[in-house]
Amino acid sequence: MNCPYCGYHDSKVIDSRDVEDGIRRRRQCLNCSSRFTTYERLQPASLFVIKKDERREEFSRDKLLSGIRKACEKCPLPTGAIDKLVDDIEAELYRLGKAEIPSTIIGDMVMDRLKSLDYIAYIRFASVYREFTDITALKQAVDTLVSSEAETSSVTTQLPLLPNEQLERQTKSRRRIRK
Ligand SMILES: [Zn+2]
Repeated sequence: MNCPYCGYHDSKVIDSRDVEDGIRRRRQCLNCSSRFTTYERLQPASLFVIKKDERREEFSRDKLLSGIRKACEKCPLPTGAIDKLVDDIEAELYRLGKAEIPSTIIGDMVMDRLKSLDYIAYIRFASVYREFTDITALKQAVDTLVSSEAETSSVTTQLPLLPNEQLERQTKSRRRIRK
């Protein structure tokens, strides 16, 4: 485990304790003396995705990758951006330490990351994932993006924009209503 501050490869354990589903270790970098925490968890043999129709399917990195690639087709993304996005999601999924994950959680993870990566890819992915059945739902998603851009552009004029926290909450409550 490299130091998150300086990248040095070695650290010493200064505290170690059992937590709910693993071991928490407090470490100190042997180079810059920064302290950080690691968690050790048992990784499930395989991860299953619970689909919307309740079917279970083994998690496939390739499938996730090709879905996102399709959404990002012809979008000017930096080389390796999509692979990194999938790596991040995969790592986060395993970090959750669950044997089964609802597909909606994975979809939300992708949406959150695409939003700060590329708007067009975000809308494309959303149109498939959220199964927009009418133009109103699609327009709503675009409007959300546009207003988020308007609100954050006063802070920074550079892309990618960070998702606005308040807007996030609104979107989530709207999602809940729709269900
Ligand atoms: Zn360090």
